[in-house]
Amino acid sequence: MVGIERVPDPTILNPRDAIVRITRTAICGSDLHLYDGYIPTMEPGDILGHEFMGEVVETGSEVRKIKKGDRVIVPFTISCGECFFCKNQLWSACDNTNPNAWMCEKMYGFTAAALFGYSHMLGGYAGGQAQFARVPFADVGCLQIPEGLEDEKVLFLTDIFPTGYMAAENCDLKGGEVVAIWGCGPVGQFTIRSAFMLGAERVIAIDRFRERLKMARAAGAEVINYEEVDDLIEELKWVTGGRGPDACIDAVGMEAHGTGLMAAYDYSKQRIRAAFDRPLVLREAIQACRKGGVVSIPGVYGGMLDKLPFGASFNKGLVLKMGQTHMQRYTEPLLRRIQNGEIDPSFVITHRLALDEAPAAYKTFRDKQDECIKVVLDPWAEPAAA
Ligand SMILES: [Zn+2]
Ligand SMILES: [Zn+2]
Repeated sequence: MVGIERVPDPTILNPRDAIVRITRTAICGSDLHLYDGYIPTMEPGDILGHEFMGEVVETGSEVRKIKKGDRVIVPFTISCGECFFCKNQLWSACDNTNPNAWMCEKMYGFTAAALFGYSHMLGGYAGGQAQFARVPFADVGCLQIPEGLEDEKVLFLTDIFPTGYMAAENCDLKGGEVVAIWGCGPVGQFTIRSAFMLGAERVIAIDRFRERLKMARAAGAEVINYEEVDDLIEELKWVTGGRGPDACIDAVGMEAHGTGLMAAYDYSKQRIRAAFDRPLVLREAIQACRKGGVVSIPGVYGGMLDKLPFGASFNKGLVLKMGQTHMQRYTEPLLRRIQNGEIDPSFVITHRLALDEAPAAYKTFRDKQDECIKVVLDPWAEPAAA
């Protein structure tokens, strides 16, 4: 359950912290995995939110780059900037920011970087669906935003734009490819636009909601409503002259919807908690991809995936690429693309609400009511009179 509660304002705990007064925050598709209870190690009272930006109001004694008064975006991953992984630009694999590393080590062998507002297994840091947040390793994460760019244009540099971009970059496009993208939610929308930026000739966008497919079409994608085709794999073969898409992107992840026997099987396993994930889309992406192609996975998965066609991946010689976004590789270059006018990320916003309205907004977003694609929250606004 998500609710609004008064909590003490955060304070500097470490000399490399900054406190940010949040001016805009958003609800992410991956917050819905928390909302639906599929991410373990959440506790009552945890503050959600990992897409936020604002003004620096206080800095610790060892913060050098950013200063009080700066307007910044804060990436959703927390990285130290000094470990082997950070030095090798593998920011989301940072070794030093998760104080609860042991929880991850048990499940995954090693821990990944901590995330804001995303379970105790991933650090237990308070998130940014709030008025203030403490930002650890502030110099490594925060990116200063120049004057003249409004919040809504740069807010999504905190997650979904870089995440969509990395998903497309992982397809290793040379120009002229056909890219199929499952899921036209916020990340899918940025993946579509990034695939075109990186040279895809055709993008085939797959979803079942009309408003999302419409937004995909506006970016130049061909669209397939999977509920309206008999066999999606056959359809994808048909529209690619029998060869299959060069790259297939799973922008859905662990809570895939679908029809048919496998979908029912996934639902029932997840319901009895015998599995975290419903990997329906990933199965389809592997099955549909052309031989020697790339399957890129920005969608979030948590546990052991069942009935994955590994034999198909092997025998077709597929490349599988995935993972949390290495944010710091992308924030500056993508800010430049926004400044150059190549993209205005605010296109994806369908709902602008006050933070106090977040509990209802979670439900609207989860249930795809009211043509909701992306919710942005203002932590300082009065809720609109209902
Ligand atoms: Zn997110
Ligand atoms: Zn690090």
